Amino acid sequence: MALINNIRFASNGLIPCIAVDYQTKVVLMQAYMNKESLVKTLQTGTITYFSRSRKALWTKGETSGNFQKLRSLFIDCDHDSILVEVDQVGVACHTGSKSCFYEDQVLFDFPSEVFSKLKRTIYDRKVNPEVGSYTNYLLEKGVDKILKKVGEETAEVIIASKNNKKEVIYETADLLYHLLVLYESLEIDFNEVFAELSVRASAP
Ligand code: AMP
Ligand code: ZN
Ligand code: ZN
Ligand code: ZN
Repeated sequence: MALINNIRFASNGLIPCIAVDYQTKVVLMQAYMNKESLVKTLQTGTITYFSRSRKALWTKGETSGNFQKLRSLFIDCDHDSILVEVDQVGVACHTGSKSCFYEDQVLFDFPSEVFSKLKRTIYDRKVNPEVGSYTNYLLEKGVDKILKKVGEETAEVIIASKNNKKEVIYETADLLYHLLVLYESLEIDFNEVFAELSVRASAP
């Protein structure tokens, strides 16, 4: 196969292979192939890697049933990396996660560092209360008080929208802050909101 002759396996005979979902393009996992596993993948249409720990061919899904059906295969510019688009049966990660890339995923999804910093500050106040802290005041008063503030700030955003742009920004900042406090008090990770938006954005 011409394709295989063009591939630059590393000196250990391996080449990294990234698998993405062929529909959503979500990155599922990264593993290694050697020449034999690549040939097998192309011949069978089912992704076979080379397991570095077991030092043996590894057809993904052989024990879990979570096979990966090959849809497309790409080689990168300098021929030292493979990308496969797959039809993933079940989940890709042995931890049960759809994708192996879930650790700290949301931090990188964040629209701004300011936001994640504020979130962390609110959490810090919760575990380490400070005298005179408004955040601690809200958290101590509880969900009903926080919800009342969320309602007020929402109304203020609406009113500000009739006035001027600067006020809209100011009131939206108030609202977002109170929403973050609400999430902290409900013990929901606000990153879940971004995860949900991200899922919607990649929906076919
Ligand atoms: P499977 O190939 O899904 O039948 O899983 C067989 C074994 O391969 C598992 O017990 C794990 O040790 C390993 N494994 C499966 N999926 C992954 C993955 N995405 N990343 C790393 N190791 C994996
Ligand atoms: Zn490369
Ligand atoms: Zn994994
Ligand atoms: Zn306000």
